[in-house]
Amino acid sequence: MSNSAIPANPLLARESPPAFDRILPEHVQPAVEELIRETNEGLEKIEAGLADPSAGTWSNTIEALAVLGRSWECTWSPVTHLMGVKNSDELREAHESVLADVVALGLRMRQSQPIHEALVQIRDDESVWSALDESQQRIISKRIRDAMLAGIALPEAEQKRFNQIAERLSKLSADFSNHVLDATRDWELLLEDPADVEGLSSTLKQLASQSFNDQADDDTAPGDPGTGPWRFTLDAPSAMPFLQHCTIPRLREKLYRAFVTRASGGKLDNTPLIDEILELRRERAALLGFDTFAEMSVATKMADVTAVESMFDLLRDASWDAGQSDLNDLKTLAADRGQAAPMAHWDVAFWAERLREERFDLTDEQLRPYFPLERVLDGLFALTGRLFGIAVEAADGEVPTWHEDVRYFRVGDEAGQQIAAFYLDPYSRPENKRGGAWMDECLVRRRVNDDLQLPVAHLVCNGTPPVGDLPSLMTFREVETLFHEFGHGLQHMLTTVDYADASGINGVEWDAVELPSQFMENWCYHRTTLMGIARHFETGEPLPDELFENLCRARTYRAGSLMLRQLNFGMLDMYLHHQYDPSGEETVLEAQQRIALSTSALEPLPEDRFLCGFQHIFAGGYAAGYYSYKWAELLSADAFSAFEDAGLEDEQAVALTGRRFRDTVLASGGGRHPMDVFRDFRGREPSTDALLRHNGLA
Ligand code: ZN
Repeated sequence: MSNSAIPANPLLARESPPAFDRILPEHVQPAVEELIRETNEGLEKIEAGLADPSAGTWSNTIEALAVLGRSWECTWSPVTHLMGVKNSDELREAHESVLADVVALGLRMRQSQPIHEALVQIRDDESVWSALDESQQRIISKRIRDAMLAGIALPEAEQKRFNQIAERLSKLSADFSNHVLDATRDWELLLEDPADVEGLSSTLKQLASQSFNDQADDDTAPGDPGTGPWRFTLDAPSAMPFLQHCTIPRLREKLYRAFVTRASGGKLDNTPLIDEILELRRERAALLGFDTFAEMSVATKMADVTAVESMFDLLRDASWDAGQSDLNDLKTLAADRGQAAPMAHWDVAFWAERLREERFDLTDEQLRPYFPLERVLDGLFALTGRLFGIAVEAADGEVPTWHEDVRYFRVGDEAGQQIAAFYLDPYSRPENKRGGAWMDECLVRRRVNDDLQLPVAHLVCNGTPPVGDLPSLMTFREVETLFHEFGHGLQHMLTTVDYADASGINGVEWDAVELPSQFMENWCYHRTTLMGIARHFETGEPLPDELFENLCRARTYRAGSLMLRQLNFGMLDMYLHHQYDPSGEETVLEAQQRIALSTSALEPLPEDRFLCGFQHIFAGGYAAGYYSYKWAELLSADAFSAFEDAGLEDEQAVALTGRRFRDTVLASGGGRHPMDVFRDFRGREPSTDALLRHNGLA
């Protein structure tokens, strides 16, 4: 290619993979404007071709949209990716300047009336419909369903009400979240006596001293982490370690009470908002023909309400005794160590930490030397080779990247054929990279004309970079996280679906999407796998047995109590969105108390207003969906147990089971209903047995 053929704007060159080394903030606006222009034009063309809805075919609807989507993949996706891994003021500004148009166009593409009508015709015409394969039918059905759920098919008057509700709900959830934020911000615990902060870690004291200094006016002398003053808040990084380590019950009580009554009184009271939100959600569901909001929520998910409720009941019954005995352990320890008062809610986290220290003193620093990144990667790739017959090969330098630490790998199948690739951005770069870890799509597997585009994944972690002669040494949690994200990556990369809307993680129901990722985490507790990885980076010594045993025991520490706590949240969420009647006798707070009684070994505090701070379901996307945390654990534990059943030490059995996992869960993507996919793999519907066993509760 001659130089003059290289367009100046790499975002418009639509190269795959993208030219990450040449994309600059100033490319964003012109490229996205052009993209929007093209997309609008393309969309109009598609819609014009569907003036008569019966003219709709697969190729002039979904496939035509996918062609437009391909341009987004090349122009817009790199921008959102760089926002996460190479952020800057300039990039943020450029992103911001086009965001509203991007969102509006996305909405217009999803809610196109002519396309919707054409798809309905395709679905209703038996001869056309039956000529499509299962994935195609799923893609069309889901698009129709999503449009219906967005109110597209409602008569005008109802549509108007529907939109009013949507608007009001989004205002209410913003208010809800602001109230929690303000209530959190308005509260503080100021301590000046060093005796009050005894037992707190130096990190927490530093945070609290910093918080004091940030709040103090100019006349106040700045405090010092060692001598105070210290300011504690209801923010999780301050409140949680405080409850775990503050040795003075009176102070713990103060903070605890403030925490569980956040946003429950005065101007910031969320109680009336809760009722209105629940009422409006019910009305919205009814407009769309659902009996309850929960029914509407699960219509787009893998589980149904009955399955969720039966999971809750089974798990609750199995965890109850363990929860009681966890509490008794804490009571005994507290009494042994001289606490005269009966165990209160603000004592639980404190004594749980003391008991943890007594039972298994396991620190990150003890484990790190055994987990240099290179070894962990080798171990992970060896495992996925054994399980799925794939070969991962370093291909650094083959493609441009956004940072010199970023690695590139090719993935091949058993026949040596390349089937996918991925970037790995392993280290933390606080100056321009978002925290946490994630898997993202760079390119999805799809057929473009007659060519097959192979999937490429982004795996992003925030591990400790190498320092001097020291390699990158990972905490055990970081190892688990890498396995987790690689699980998502495997579903993205090992898909065999050729339609972008259903390939990889696309179109996979929301409560099923964590199956491959959490499944992979299980291998971190498989002795042979972990011991094969964990070797001291200097001495080459294997991880001492005792440490491995401790890791496994730490995994199930207080499992009954933790389970009950999650069930409390999940059951309350489901109850409020399925049975609860806002005009009935029981108030939401009474419902909260009643359900807490059935899931807590310690009687709930009558003043507890936890619901007023439950942002997951009132201000986040988890309404009638909180169960999905447990559901995903159940699926992944049950999937892993297929390997246990086959014999974890039987290489051939593991390989066979692994191939079956690859050919079902990893291959099917969104092209098949996840319950069918699960049955394909497991031969039956999911069961709670393995989850309970892995948690030491069976
Ligand atoms: Zn995940």
